Amino acid sequence: MQKPSSSLRLVIVGGVAAGASAAARARRLSESASIILLERGPDVSFANCGLPYYVGGEIAQRAALAVQTPQTLKALLNLDVRTSTEAVAIDRPGKRVQVRSLGSGTTEWLPYDNLLLAPGAVPLRPALPGIDDARIFTLRSLQDMDRIKAAAVEAKRVAVIGAGFIGLEMAEQFVRLGKQVTLVELLDQVLPPLDKPMTLFIEDELRRHGIDLILGDGIESFDCGAALTCRLKSARRIEADLVVLSIGVRPDSALARDAGLALGPRGHIRVNEFMQTSDPDIYAAGDAIESNDLVTGDPASVPLGGPANRQGRLVADHIFAPTLAKPWPGLLGTAIVRVFDVSAGLTGWSEKRLRAAGRPYRTITVNDSQHAGYFPGAKPIILKLLWDPETGRVLGAQAAGLAGVDKRLDVLATALAGKLTIDDLAQLELAYAPPFGAAKDIVNLAGFAACNTRDGLVTPVETLQDDPNVQILDVRPPALVQSHPLPRPATANIPLAALRLRLGELDRSRPVVTVCALGKTAYFAARILAQNGFQVSCLTGGIRAHWDPRSPAKLPTP
Ligand SMILES: Cc1cc2nc3c(=O)[nH]c(=O)nc-3n(C[C@H](O)[C@H](O)[C@H](O)COP(=O)(O)OP(=O)(O)OC[C@H]3O[C@@H](n4cnc5c(N)ncnc54)[C@H](O)[C@@H]3O)c2cc1C
Repeated sequence: MQKPSSSLRLVIVGGVAAGASAAARARRLSESASIILLERGPDVSFANCGLPYYVGGEIAQRAALAVQTPQTLKALLNLDVRTSTEAVAIDRPGKRVQVRSLGSGTTEWLPYDNLLLAPGAVPLRPALPGIDDARIFTLRSLQDMDRIKAAAVEAKRVAVIGAGFIGLEMAEQFVRLGKQVTLVELLDQVLPPLDKPMTLFIEDELRRHGIDLILGDGIESFDCGAALTCRLKSARRIEADLVVLSIGVRPDSALARDAGLALGPRGHIRVNEFMQTSDPDIYAAGDAIESNDLVTGDPASVPLGGPANRQGRLVADHIFAPTLAKPWPGLLGTAIVRVFDVSAGLTGWSEKRLRAAGRPYRTITVNDSQHAGYFPGAKPIILKLLWDPETGRVLGAQAAGLAGVDKRLDVLATALAGKLTIDDLAQLELAYAPPFGAAKDIVNLAGFAACNTRDGLVTPVETLQDDPNVQILDVRPPALVQSHPLPRPATANIPLAALRLRLGELDRSRPVVTVCALGKTAYFAARILAQNGFQVSCLTGGIRAHWDPRSPAKLPTP
C-alpha cells in the first residue's frame, strides 16, 4: 500500500534540470516528505544552457550559472542534497538504491518509496584515433566549461565538430573571443533538425563572421603532435589548438539498464504518460527518457531543457498530488538558436522527417518582416509551415531571421499543442502595433498561403525544374534580376505591374512557374496568369528561400 505522501521517501538521481525541478515541486506539495537529491558532479541545479555564453564572456559571472546550491536548496526547500555522490545500483525488490561517495569511496543503501532517475545524457565521444588528447573537449558540466575557457586563453585556432545547436553556440562564442574558428559538420547543412533551405541564413551568417564552415565531412582521427591535427573523411586536415566535439548525446541510462528497466532501441528509459518506468515505483525524466511525439504519438526522445523541467514537475505531481497530475502530452522538439545576428529554430516535424517517415504533408514558405515594414527597424523573417493535407492540422514549422523568430516559433508550438489547423492560423488574432508586428502577421500569412494552396488558388513548387517545356516568369525588378541571377535563365522578365499588358510574351500552351524574391509577388503574378487561362505554379518562398549562400551575391533582402 502507498504510504501517505507526508512520510514518503523520494530519492532522486541527478540534480540538475529534471531532478532539481522534481525536488522543488515535491517539497511544495509535501512539507514532511524525505527528499534526497543525489548528484554525481559537484554542482546541482546549474544552467547548462548558459555554459557556451560563459566561455565566450557574454555571461560574465560564473556564479550566475549556479541557479541554486546545496545550501540554498537546504535553506529554501529543506532538501537533502548530496553532491559528488553517485547512484551505482538499484535493488528493486528491496526498494533501495546504493550510493557511493566519490570523495571517500564509501557506499551505503538508501531506502525509497519512489525513485526518480534524472541522469541526463552524455556527449558522444567516439573511439577515434587520438580522441583522448587533452586538447579535445566536450561540454556538459561547469567543469567542462572551465576547462574549455582555460584552454581558450592560449588557443588561436579552434575546431568545433558538429554544427547542431551547441556547436553553433560554441562557434559563435569562440569568434567573440577572437579565435580563428573552423566548424565541421557531417551532413550537408548546419542545424540538422531543420530543412536545409531554412539553414542557409545561418550558413551565410557563419561565413560572414569568418568561420570556415566545412559541410558534408566528418572527423576521422586526430594526429596529436605538438600541433593537434583533425583529419577529416575527405582527407582534409585542420590544425587546431583546441577542439570541441558537439556531435550529439546518448542517454546516461546504465543504472536503469542494470536494474532491468525497459529501455528503447537507443538506450532511452521507457516511461508512460506519468513518467513511470516499467517499474511503477521508479520514475524517469529528462534527456534519458523516451516518451512520445505530440503530433503522432510515436516513441520520441528530445534532449532539451524545457521538457526535462516539466517532466520533473509532473513526476512530483504524480507522486504527491496524483489528482493534479496531467498526463504528459508528448514532445514537439521546439528549439531555437542564435548565431550572431540571425536566429533559427523549429517546432514539430520537418519536411525531411515527414518524407522519411512516408507521412503525407503539404508545405509552403513565406517571407515578411518581424513587424510592419514601414516602421523603423523592420527585419526579414522567413517561415516554413508543414501541414496534413487531409485535416489541415499543423505538423511543424521552422523560422529564421534577424528578429521575432522566437515569438513565431512559440505561437506555432502552441498551435501544434492545440492541434490547430491552417485555417486557425489564418484567423489567429495576434498582438499588433507597428513596433511589434503587422496587421497580418507572418503566422497569419503562412495560414493564408497554406489555405490558398489547399483551396487550389496557387500551386507551390520548391525548385526550379530543368524541364525546358516549363516557362520561368521572373517578376522581380530588373536591378534584382541582374544582381541575383536565377540558376536557370528566365523565359521572360516581366515586373508585376506590367504583366497584364504583356501576357502575350508567354506561351499559353506551356506551363509557367512564377518567381520573385520573396514569394509574394510571384503569387500575385500566378493569380493573374491562372485567371487568364495559364497552367501556373509559383516558387514558394521566392529565391530567398533557396539562395545558395556560397553564391557571390548576398541573400536577397525584402
Ligand atoms: C552546453 C549545453 C547547452 C544547452 N542549451 C540548451 C538550450 O539552449 N535549450 C534547451 O532546451 N536545452 C539546452 N541544453 C539541453 C539541456 O541542458 C538538457 O536537455 C537538460 O539539462 C536535461 O536535463 P536532465 O535533468 O535530463 O539532465 P541534466 O540536466 O544533464 O542532469 C543530469 C544530472 O544527473 C547526474 N547523474 C547522472 N547519473 C548519475 C548517477 N548515477 N548518480 C548521481 N548523479 C547522476 C549528472 O551528473 C547530471 O548532472 C543544453 C545542454 C548543454 C550541455
